[in-house]
Amino acid sequence: MSSLKSAWIISILLIVILFLFTVYPSTEAFKNVPEPFQNVFRILLFVAIVSLMIFLLTEMNNWYRRCQLLSQSYDQHQSEKGSTVNAIGLHYKIDTSENYRQLIHHLTEIMHASLMAQAVFIYLYNGKENSYVLQECSCSHKSRPLNTFPCEGELFSKLHLNPQPELYQSGQIVPDFLKYYQVPPKIGTLMLAPISINNVFVGFIGTDSVDRETWGKEDLDLLTGFANLFRNAVLQIDVVDQQEVYISFFRDLFRLNTEITFGIEPHELYKQAAAVLKKFFRFDKLTLAFISKDQPASLTIEYVEGSEADYTIGHEINLKQGVWEPIIRHKKPVLIGDYDKSEVEFRFQPDDLKIIPFRSAVGIPVLTASKEAGGILLESFKIDNYTAEDVETLNIFGRNFSEILNRLTVYQSMKELAMIDGLTNIYNHRAFKERLQIEIERSRRYNTTLTLLILDLDKFKRINDTYGHLHGDYVLRKSANIIRSSVRTVDTIARYGGEEFAVILINTDKKSCLNTAERICKNINSFLFEKEGMSERMSISIGMSEFPGDGDDLQALISCADMAMYSAKRAGGNRVVLYENHKT
Ligand code: GH3
Ligand code: MG
Ligand code: MG
Repeated sequence: MSSLKSAWIISILLIVILFLFTVYPSTEAFKNVPEPFQNVFRILLFVAIVSLMIFLLTEMNNWYRRCQLLSQSYDQHQSEKGSTVNAIGLHYKIDTSENYRQLIHHLTEIMHASLMAQAVFIYLYNGKENSYVLQECSCSHKSRPLNTFPCEGELFSKLHLNPQPELYQSGQIVPDFLKYYQVPPKIGTLMLAPISINNVFVGFIGTDSVDRETWGKEDLDLLTGFANLFRNAVLQIDVVDQQEVYISFFRDLFRLNTEITFGIEPHELYKQAAAVLKKFFRFDKLTLAFISKDQPASLTIEYVEGSEADYTIGHEINLKQGVWEPIIRHKKPVLIGDYDKSEVEFRFQPDDLKIIPFRSAVGIPVLTASKEAGGILLESFKIDNYTAEDVETLNIFGRNFSEILNRLTVYQSMKELAMIDGLTNIYNHRAFKERLQIEIERSRRYNTTLTLLILDLDKFKRINDTYGHLHGDYVLRKSANIIRSSVRTVDTIARYGGEEFAVILINTDKKSCLNTAERICKNINSFLFEKEGMSERMSISIGMSEFPGDGDDLQALISCADMAMYSAKRAGGNRVVLYENHKT
């Protein structure tokens, strides 16, 4: 550092001398130029020279720092191969920039979320003290990992001398392994992945969970991926722009993971996911495709971005020998530097590269519980556009994306359950109202009509009173089936109350609605309800109202249909009454 100080002192002296030489003496060249212009020119010259000197000094300063860092890591590697000393960790800890702090913070958060871990911690190795120094942790245990702990004991000295990722299950974990806690909680699974820079061990990323067998080999690979990502990011610590890209990628991925609203449409989710990928990867085409459970033989494109003149949403992809085969069948990432030289025989279909000349690609599997399998493929017109690190980063993205899809599917099925009536297996009252509101809005937007039927079984109570509730339940279930099979699949049927039903008929005129309602009446009346000692015929009263003619909101529409239904009932039941005719 002293040589740097002397450089500054010499520079300041030079500036003073320059000032004296440029601003004061008048030279031959300026003889014919008026005095004020001479001075302005001199001052401008002076400012330019000083700026140049400041720029050179800053560059020298940066260069000097980089040399110091390189020589430290090189010396260590040369003189103490495999030994314990390492100052890189210390260097980064002391010189922690805001970027670095943010990077490890987001990295830890995203690991926490994607591994569903109880604790995630990053320790760097301090060679002078032979200890590990905590850089960042995200922990939901009562006791937090220690800020430093000595590098001793079987696990941590072994990790240091032979840096390999390791997964420990409950039977293997002994108290000696949990040195990073003052008071260790009960740990069921522990994973550690070493971080190495220039082949020198600098620290590790660890994660633990109270549950047994939380993770397997796949998760260990993921943790190793995170460790490599940390290394790649830290190696570029001087390249601020690159740092910020990493940080914003993790921040966005974290947001995607935690802030996605339930009930989001899949297309919207895919769009948001693509926006995150766009920040980090250059691609000319992004393709997201899934094998659906209904059609396990084919892979369907569900989202695309980029090059328009290519396969679009809904296209079915050939799996055999194409680029998707390893992703889908072997559930492995692919990295293609140049399609022409790669092992895959073709892209999506034979000869499609002749039409659109993509050259390189990177793809990863997306594995979810609801869909058989799927994948994300990024392609570029440039050769070798992607690296092995890109595969790792994209893989991490894929894992998070799969988790999001899983959560949304669970939510969707729970929501469906909450909307379905347990006895009749059709929509319940709440779901009916939600549906009706949506359909009213749709009809309003497209200027179409909509018809609502309210249906009430006639003298249903006598079934309960005569044969008991189980027989009553049977009649309700059967009636729901008869109503369902009497309408189109686009129509919504719901259980409105005890023995009352509702049907929403969309995009249809009154005449066909009347036919449908009369068909329901006839079908109920002609069915023989038979169950253990019971053989009964039922009838139903139906009231009809129309949007927007009879009522232009949900409440008005329901009350009109209700009034019409009671008219039908008063007239003896087993009939259909339209709202406008209900008084007759
Ligand atoms: P009306 O012709 O005037 O419609 O007479 P009703 O007997 O059909 O109608 P009422 O409203 O008098 O009785 C409806 C009965 O439906 C009363 C109630 O116990 C019965 N109920 C409501 N929900 C269920 C159910 O889930 N299962 C069974 N078995 N009965 C139900
Ligand atoms: Mg009733
Ligand atoms: Mg009734």
